[in-house]
Amino acid sequence: MPTLRFQALREASSRKPIHFEETEKKSVIFGSNVFNQKAMKQFLTSEAYKAVQGAIQHGTKIDRKIADYVAMGMKEWALSKGVTHYTHWFQPLTGTTAEKHDAFFETSFDGGDSVEKFGGAQLVQQEPDASSFPNGGIRNTFEARGYTAWDPTSPAFIFGTTLCIPTVFISYTGEALDYKTPLLRALTVMDDAATEVCRYFDKNVKKVTATLGWEQEYFLIDRSLAKSRPDLMMTGRTLLGHTSAKGQQLDDHYFGSIPTRALTYMRDLEQECMLLGIPVKTRHNEVAPNQFEVAPIFEETNLAVDHNCLLMDVMEKVAERHDLKVLLHEKPFKGVNGSGKHNNWSLATDTGVNLLSPSKTPMSNLQFLTFFINTIKAVNDNETLLRASIASASNDHRLGANEAPPAIISVFIGESLSKVLAELEGVTTGKLSPEEKTDLKLNVVGKIPDLMLDNTDRNRTSPFAFTGNKFEFRAVGSSANCSNAMTTLNAIVAKQLRDFKVEVDRLIEDKGMKKDDAIFNVLREYIKQSKKILFEGDGYSEAWEKEAAKRGLSNYKTTPEALKARASKQALDLFSELGIMNHVEVEARYEIELEEYTKKIQIEGRVLGDIARNHVIPTAIRYQNTLIENVRGLKEIFGKDFESVSKEQIAIIKQISAHIEGINTKVDEMTDERKKANSLTDAQAMAEAYCNKVKPYFDIIRNHCDKLELLVDNELWTLTKYRELLFTK
Ligand code: ADP
Ligand code: MG
Repeated sequence: MPTLRFQALREASSRKPIHFEETEKKSVIFGSNVFNQKAMKQFLTSEAYKAVQGAIQHGTKIDRKIADYVAMGMKEWALSKGVTHYTHWFQPLTGTTAEKHDAFFETSFDGGDSVEKFGGAQLVQQEPDASSFPNGGIRNTFEARGYTAWDPTSPAFIFGTTLCIPTVFISYTGEALDYKTPLLRALTVMDDAATEVCRYFDKNVKKVTATLGWEQEYFLIDRSLAKSRPDLMMTGRTLLGHTSAKGQQLDDHYFGSIPTRALTYMRDLEQECMLLGIPVKTRHNEVAPNQFEVAPIFEETNLAVDHNCLLMDVMEKVAERHDLKVLLHEKPFKGVNGSGKHNNWSLATDTGVNLLSPSKTPMSNLQFLTFFINTIKAVNDNETLLRASIASASNDHRLGANEAPPAIISVFIGESLSKVLAELEGVTTGKLSPEEKTDLKLNVVGKIPDLMLDNTDRNRTSPFAFTGNKFEFRAVGSSANCSNAMTTLNAIVAKQLRDFKVEVDRLIEDKGMKKDDAIFNVLREYIKQSKKILFEGDGYSEAWEKEAAKRGLSNYKTTPEALKARASKQALDLFSELGIMNHVEVEARYEIELEEYTKKIQIEGRVLGDIARNHVIPTAIRYQNTLIENVRGLKEIFGKDFESVSKEQIAIIKQISAHIEGINTKVDEMTDERKKANSLTDAQAMAEAYCNKVKPYFDIIRNHCDKLELLVDNELWTLTKYRELLFTK
């Protein structure tokens, strides 16, 4: 009987790209499955329309009666598109999205009439039986009630035949049980803080929106091949597999022509995204074989986060149609690049100004510098919180593993802006003379746009880089929900802007300084205080690790270490002071993330043990038996001279035995360590035990398996090999 591997290879190599044709131009179909402005205008009364717009723009509450009207309009719109069910769509702390579908259909009590029913009550709030979502001890299961509540700032959409309503997910006592709630709170705080600061420069600014443009990297693997690898299916990554002779050495994949099957998939995916109003724009090959990237036009952060969650879902569903499997794991394959999700972040005013974009006049550039320097200061003071916000078992494979960003958080700003900061550092303390001010405005602040034009050097090794008109947080994991990173980033910058405002106002009121003098004075001090975070060199180098340690920057290579900052006093104070999360919420999250880490490593350990024992050892023994048979035959023919003709075979037989022994003893030892770890009661201690005692066995066991892969007859090997996974197009 052919093994799954050969069956899969046969299937994969006989595949043709499925036929796909775009139905219409992107601009025509964009957002047609979204309850957007256009749909609302058509299906809502003007009163209901105004109420929803008010909620979106100013966060005003929608009363229950109006909610009934909105629900009615939403239902009519959905029914006109063939929708049969609705669901509250939310982002529990499991890392995936959740939905529970209910039919619109209802019968009357006497069973006589049946109607399509969906009212304000169903729109606004639901009570999913949520006892099995992670809650970090916030809810005891006997009072396991949580509810989902409509988030009108992210529009409802149709997927398949279901109307999906984006919602927050909170406990009955009001604590956040999801990613969205703290993000929305952080964005509100950011709006308030940034608007206040903007008003130093422009009194017309009433609202500041944080913007996010994510870049999503992923691998595409033939579905049958992926299914033939239990490790890929169960853990999202390969736990063993010898590196392919050809990998990414030739750099022949990056930006190369996209293979037909992948391209057809991308076109199909893009069409789905268009219908859902996800403004994807860019597609290209990435560095590793079978690795790709998709990126949208940036949007308001909450919407962008929802769109990324939705995209990850849609990517998998579309892949099924193309007999492909999407791998969103940060490191599916050893020895080739992993995947990340760059988070491009900026701030935009309701007057149309990008606050992180240098512009024409000195005054607006002082505004740019204000936001630019405050962001740097925020990262400087909270680098451990940022590091914690991107920590996960899967992202540990990238961070600090000599491939896209190191585990050390630093900020890259480029040569030109470094010079500008150096000039500003020399600003006089106290009042500035008119000459100094003119000089600053003309020769420093005013020159920024010109300087920026030739600022083309881009440091790809920096985890947090300024790229002309935005910061790019590059250390976010490809499988992560962007919320964690975005909640933290917006929170720390908002806090920083608040502090800035207090300091500037104090100088104006107490010291009688002019506004711009005060701003220059505060910024000068921030530049001095933020030096340790700025780094322009090679982030992958050992020299940087040493230098960073000297500067006192953290370098947490593992999740359990990094997560400690999650529940530090600094984090508890920051989030509670800003009203983003209270202590219970912060601590619950810390606990949940530790548990998730532990479970991931636990599953990987079990899967690896199984594969090593059930696939690798039996295959190795089968091949060893063939060799033994061969040696026995040689002995028959050559008699006492058999040793010289069979010495290579005997050597291999011995090597195989040694590797089998290695696997067996190490799997046993690993299992013992797992048992010991499981007996621990403290979540931090357990995660550390999994990290430091269990995980180190992975490499040792893998190494034995991979050596066997090189020894054993290719025809016998049951696990699809790296070269097949990576180079089947
Ligand atoms: P790359 O980093 O690959 O060279 P770009 O710099 O052109 O590409 O942009 C990458 C991403 O940055 C895009 O997804 C885009 O939407 C996003 N982006 C551009 N401007 C902003 C902004 N002001 N705020 C947030 N994201 C932005
Ligand atoms: Mg980028």
